Amino acid sequence: MSLYRDEGVVLRTQKLGEADRIVTILAKRTGKIRAVAKGVRRTTSRFGARLEPFTHVDLQLHTGRTLDVVTQAETLRPYGEALAADYPRYTAGSAMLETADRLTHGEKEPALRQFLLLVGGLRTLADREHEARLVLDAYFLRSLAVAGYAPALDACAKCQAPAIRAFAIVAGGVVCGACRPAGSAVPAGETIGLMTALLRGDWATADASESRHRSECSGLVAAYLQWHLEHGIRSLRHVEREPV
Ligand SMILES: [Zn+2]
Repeated sequence: MSLYRDEGVVLRTQKLGEADRIVTILAKRTGKIRAVAKGVRRTTSRFGARLEPFTHVDLQLHTGRTLDVVTQAETLRPYGEALAADYPRYTAGSAMLETADRLTHGEKEPALRQFLLLVGGLRTLADREHEARLVLDAYFLRSLAVAGYAPALDACAKCQAPAIRAFAIVAGGVVCGACRPAGSAVPAGETIGLMTALLRGDWATADASESRHRSECSGLVAAYLQWHLEHGIRSLRHVEREPV
């Protein structure tokens, strides 16, 4: 039996048998872990609520043949408590957990930057420093950038021309008038400025933005994320089917 320690954020849980759960954790050093928490659904469980989604935990696990087993769990910060009382923050946090899960494909592939972004995003949400929608959009843009999908925001994604006309998801960001695909969105310049500020972590600019630009930004970022998640999953399937 081989023991190891790590800290991580619980992304989701699923029932296993009568009293156990499979817990999916994004861990700092190990990457994504799926592990069994035995007896966790009993009221007398020694784990209590420590293995619920949103909780940042310090863990000890032992390596199993198929799934590892959680042997100790200590709460570092229970973000779920801070978020549960505020519906917009709770839904934003849930979207972060799901995105972190989907942007980290393999189990036990280290994903330190995704882990740090997730912890930073949950902390910012829980601390109520900024509007939940802005925190979520900043998290989406930065986690996509870490995954290699940063949108072009300074110059045309296709020809690098500095004169920006529209935002085209399939092209990978802003595009000029000549490269603009039919039907692409034409957002306000302030909306592209807000996306740039969120991607860079420029909160002074983001907090000063107007509501209509925040709404437009959220719509574009959500569509951009959705496209890349579907595209990412498609390319993963393609890789798996390729002959070795
Ligand atoms: Zn162009």
